[in-house]
This record gives sequence, C-alpha cells and structure tokens, in this order.
Amino acid sequence: MSDKTENREPVDKLPVTGPLAKRLEQVQQRMNRACRQAQRAVSSVRLLAVSKTRSSDEIRALRAMGVGAFGENYLAEAERKLHQLSQQDIEWHFIGPMQSNKTKAIAALFDWVQSVDREKIVRRLADQRPAQRPALQVLIQVNIDREPQKSGCLPEQLDALVDSIVQRKELNLRGLMAIPAAASRDSTASFEEMAALFESLKQQHAQIDTLSLGMSSDLEPAIEAGSTMIRIGTDLFGPRTT
Ligand SMILES: *Cc1c(COP(=O)(O)O)cnc(C)c1O
Repeated sequence: MSDKTENREPVDKLPVTGPLAKRLEQVQQRMNRACRQAQRAVSSVRLLAVSKTRSSDEIRALRAMGVGAFGENYLAEAERKLHQLSQQDIEWHFIGPMQSNKTKAIAALFDWVQSVDREKIVRRLADQRPAQRPALQVLIQVNIDREPQKSGCLPEQLDALVDSIVQRKELNLRGLMAIPAAASRDSTASFEEMAALFESLKQQHAQIDTLSLGMSSDLEPAIEAGSTMIRIGTDLFGPRTT
C-alpha cells in the first residue's frame, strides 16, 4: 500500500448523476451550509464516508466522485474490501471497537485508527505497525456520555493515554473522536465538551488537528461545535439493510 496524501480533489467540483451522487451532493450542501452558519471555512471540515456493510463497488463509485477517505468498523469485512480495492488511492480509517487480538491486522492495513481507547491498544498498535509504513494516524475515542457499554476512554483518563501515544514514533496522535449517546441528552452538550477537550489538547501538542464528531443525523451541531471531520454512512449510501 502506498503512502496517502491528505489533499484530495474537492468533491463539489465533479460531475454529479445517479442516486449516490445525489446523496453526496446533499451531504456536501449540508456541510457547506453548516460551515457558513458557523462562519467556518468549508475546507476546515473533512468528510469520512462510513462504508461498513457497503460493497466494494459502492466504495469505488464514491471514490470516483472524489471522496478519498473511508471508515470501516469490522476487521474481517474491511480486510476483504481493502484487498478488492488495493488499486484505489483511498485513505482507510478504522472506526470500530478495538479488540486486542485484531490490532496486528489493523496496524498493517489502515492509515488511521479513530477508536484508540486504552494503553494496551496503544502498545500493540505501535509494536505491530510495519516498519516500512508511515506512522499510524491516531484519534482517541472518548466515551463522553459515560455509557457503560460504549468504547472510549473517560475524560479523566485522557491525559495518561495521550502521553502513552506521543511517546511512540510509530503513532501520530491527531486528535479526538466521540459518538455521543443516542437519546440520553442533547448531543450539543456532548459536542461542546469534546470541543473543550480538543482545544486543550491542541494547546499541548502542535500536531493535533482533528476532531471527529457528527454523523448523518447530527452533522450540523457537530460542525457548529467545531468538528473537523464528519463520519457519514446512511445519508451517503442510503439506509443500511444489514
Ligand atoms: C456507523 C457509524 C457512523 C455513521 O453513522 P450514520 O448514522 O450511518 O451516518 C459514524 N461513526 C461510527 C463510529 C459508526 O460506527
């Protein structure tokens, strides 16, 4: 796999036809509108296409429309698709819960991991990142609403986890990710807490530039709060059937 650059064709410059293109255009318009509303540059928010359960053909089609970053949740499914799409210039993000017996393959295959949440995972990913590959780009997942069943470190565990990552040259800490609770409270409050943690982390480490917040249903409040990367599945590919 070749190194990936992070600068991609702007997706809004490409021809748009068919249902997938239509949905991409709608997501793009929502992003643009939310950025304008928040008085932020459109270029300050990246789009991650969440392709779990979607076929390699759907990914290929979206790639051809200019989307360059895709997120996968399940290793076995991702291994199959990454193999089928190995000729495509795609930046792959692992965004699913991390199991320690999966870290070796994840460290070998992915460009980014957004769901790092404990030191054991940090250690394994760093030890297992192949020497010929560039540093693995890492986000720490924060369990901002303290849900017992959810992945992510608690806010008070963040500092120790940050220290363990920045000590490893095989890893490049880029920022934070969260999935707020579905219904327990207004996600705006969770987004704002994440933004505060992100700002404080940015003060401490110069390379921090990524706050991964917002999905199909809440990309607008996420951008308003300061998200720099929205993760969209349903509203790009249509409803998941599996
Ligand atoms: C599935 C998933 C998404 C996308 O959710 P949609 O509501 O389909 O846009 C984003 N982030 C993570 C971590 C996911 O698992």
